[in-house]
Amino acid sequence: MGAQMSGSGLEPDLFTEEAAALAAARQLHADDGASGDEQRRMLGELIVHYERLMRETRRLIRRSDRAERDMHVLNRELQALAGQLEYRATHDPLTGALNRGAVIEQASSCLARGDMALIVLDIDLFKQVNDDFGHPAGDAVIRAVVDSLQALLGQDTPIGRVGGEEFSVVWPTSSREEAQQVAQRICDAIAARRQPAPITRPVTVSVGVSWNRAGTAFEHAYSHADQALYQAKRDGRNCVRVWQD
Ligand code: GH3
Ligand code: MG
Ligand code: MG
Repeated sequence: MGAQMSGSGLEPDLFTEEAAALAAARQLHADDGASGDEQRRMLGELIVHYERLMRETRRLIRRSDRAERDMHVLNRELQALAGQLEYRATHDPLTGALNRGAVIEQASSCLARGDMALIVLDIDLFKQVNDDFGHPAGDAVIRAVVDSLQALLGQDTPIGRVGGEEFSVVWPTSSREEAQQVAQRICDAIAARRQPAPITRPVTVSVGVSWNRAGTAFEHAYSHADQALYQAKRDGRNCVRVWQD
């Protein structure tokens, strides 16, 4: 009693036999002269078909429930994958900080909304850290810098790794003094952090800050913060400089 093809030849019809039994029953029902035996035999036949219809219906309901459950599972997997894809497209795999593109996006939309400080920092003499303690130790320092930034500024602050050992912080504020204070706290927190073995000395960063009015282009904000950063390097490293017109 599997699927059979209906008259059109295209759609499967599960109920060809039932349709035939129903037609026969109708005919008998309309026949005033039908005998009691004929009616009972017809009723017996209808019972068989009715029972099969119930079994078939239950089977279809079970199958549709199963398909719905499978669809929910697939949907959840799809959503999780989309989330992972979005995360990978916007985050740096080594540290979990935002990547360069995501920082530009966050900073640009922040600048469109209001005044904002862009804080950029670069690890001091990092090449020497790699040379003295090895590349994996250097990687651990990079992770430690991001960890310090997150611990100090909170998970909601956009923190990005925009180069190998260069980082950015987007800090909305209408106060240049506040921007400088935040930058100084960053500089101090990183210098005070105990680095993991085998690193035996403190690691410092130089910090550049640009404080920008709402509507400033990201490129300007970044270029000014970068100029301030290089001033901090020239001034001896492990210090903060704020860009001035
Ligand atoms: P400065 O104080 O002037 O910034 O000196 P520096 O030594 O930090 O600057 P430089 O640009 O000469 O060296 C940066 C080094 O950072 C060179 C590169 O090998 C290293 N580096 C870049 N990306 C990574 C990374 O992902 N992991 C590690 N371990 N090192 C990296
Ligand atoms: Mg650098
Ligand atoms: Mg450096």
